Amino acid sequence: MPAPRDLTGQRYGGLLVLGPADPPTGRSVSAWRCLCDCGRMEDIPTSRLPHTPSQAKLRGIRWRCTVCMQTRTCAVCGATFQSVKARSACSNACHTVQQKARQREWYQQKTSSDPSYNQQVWSRRKAHAAADPAAAQRLRQTHQAANLRYRANIAADPERTAQRKAAYAEHYAAHRDEIQARRRQRLEAMSPEARDALRAQRRAYQAAYYQTHREAIQARQRARHDAMTPAQQAHWLERMRAYGRAYRRHWRADLAANPAAHQRYRDLMREYRRLRALRQLMGIGAELIKRSKRA
Ligand SMILES: [Zn+2]
Ligand SMILES: [Zn+2]
Repeated sequence: MPAPRDLTGQRYGGLLVLGPADPPTGRSVSAWRCLCDCGRMEDIPTSRLPHTPSQAKLRGIRWRCTVCMQTRTCAVCGATFQSVKARSACSNACHTVQQKARQREWYQQKTSSDPSYNQQVWSRRKAHAAADPAAAQRLRQTHQAANLRYRANIAADPERTAQRKAAYAEHYAAHRDEIQARRRQRLEAMSPEARDALRAQRRAYQAAYYQTHREAIQARQRARHDAMTPAQQAHWLERMRAYGRAYRRHWRADLAANPAAHQRYRDLMREYRRLRALRQLMGIGAELIKRSKRA
């Protein structure tokens, strides 16, 4: 065994060797007291010190104190953090971002190298769901949650919402007859009970939609009516008179007992009275102007 080299005064990367960590026992020095560039002092085992830089790199040796080695830079947000384990993300949130990016990359590679990848996965899942009702239920829940997230993202973005609406409108305009025929077929194929249930469901949905969007709907309505020509207004008022009569005939008994159910009708009638009063006022104004000119 060769005599241990005296490393005192040597510099290895960020470490300056100050001297043996303990008085040498026999011929070997097990560790050296080193000063790190960060100002910390630490005893470093001899095995980590006397190498050339390329040897050290090969063996994964970093010439820093423990604290410096545990100080890492987050690959996602760039923050500095301490970790004993080799981690490249500073927090769970950054880790999630990193994982998602990796998954995306993996998925892109997979789908570009194998165009039928999605079909394979989907057919496997379908087979799995067909064999196991619990798995099918879980799959449904996952899809519903994903769908909700997707819709919420779109709803939060006015530009995407507008794009989507335009795309739907375009699709409907191009395939209107087919779509309506399909709907009719579906309705005709249903049992009367199922049809009633569907109607009730649709009515409930419409009522709930109206309740949530009531103010916006009313504002749009008012704006539309105010922009109408007098002839159009007269036509609308006439239609509303007829509609109101028919509605009251049909729902007379229920109207007073269940006002919430008839909210939409009552709002329409209020709009009817507003427009009628406005037109009367304008008529009176015009009449007054005419008279004052004559006088
Ligand atoms: Zn250090
Ligand atoms: Zn981070």
